[in-house]
Amino acid sequence: MPPVSVSRRLVQQYGVVAAQVHAGLVNAWHAAGNLLFPPACVYCGVGLAGSASGQPLLCARCASTIVHADRRACRRCASTLPAYWPDGGGCPRCQARCYHFAQAVALGSYRTEMQQVVLRMKRPAFEPLTHTMGLYLGELVRERLGGLELDLIVPIPMHWWRRLRRGTYPAQLLALTVGSVTRLPVCTQLLRCRRKAKKQGTLRPSERFRNVRGTFCVSSGYDITDANVLIVDDIMTTGATASEAARVLRQAGARAAYVAVVARGGQ
Ligand SMILES: [Zn+2]
Ligand SMILES: [Zn+2]
Repeated sequence: MPPVSVSRRLVQQYGVVAAQVHAGLVNAWHAAGNLLFPPACVYCGVGLAGSASGQPLLCARCASTIVHADRRACRRCASTLPAYWPDGGGCPRCQARCYHFAQAVALGSYRTEMQQVVLRMKRPAFEPLTHTMGLYLGELVRERLGGLELDLIVPIPMHWWRRLRRGTYPAQLLALTVGSVTRLPVCTQLLRCRRKAKKQGTLRPSERFRNVRGTFCVSSGYDITDANVLIVDDIMTTGATASEAARVLRQAGARAAYVAVVARGGQ
């Protein structure tokens, strides 16, 4: 029998077609919405003439100030590289760090408008903005990580209580949208929260790695042996949360873990 690829094996095992279903639903939603409400920029509200369904809904001005995918970023941790620093092999921020993921990409730095975008994405009313950022992130993943033979996508889990209180789960919506762009299966239940960690934002950078240790686990019944897994989240600051997710995935048999976030913070 010919060998079966990991992603196909996963789809066969679990029927993971969330990405394709999601893409169909999003397109239908856009088509219906465009009839009732003409498309507008999801950040500043200006009308967007001639916007096709399934396209990112940012006006040219907002796109140029928010998305900086072409900035010179560290290939390992996605931080902006200092001037004169060579490409590849890390940067001053990550040289001394031991991350469990191999590579990270981000749409931009957590500053000015991008900071506003991340804060808005934490509110349910801004899910269309989250979806648009997911479309840009999907394109970035295709461009930067397309040659890595990724097998599946997982969102960083959010504790059920936090999810209930907030009413939106940006990492999952981003992961599903990245899945619809890249046509990779999205496993929303693969990683789970075992306990509620203290909010990372309230802790010093050195405490964040300790705080997230043991927070996540891989659900039983998933075989991710030799899989290349892409972890998706809205923001990465110290990298502690993404690194812990990567550690758990690799402990469960994943070959490698990669990270895609909207914003890279802490710089
Ligand atoms: Zn705009
Ligand atoms: Zn770096």
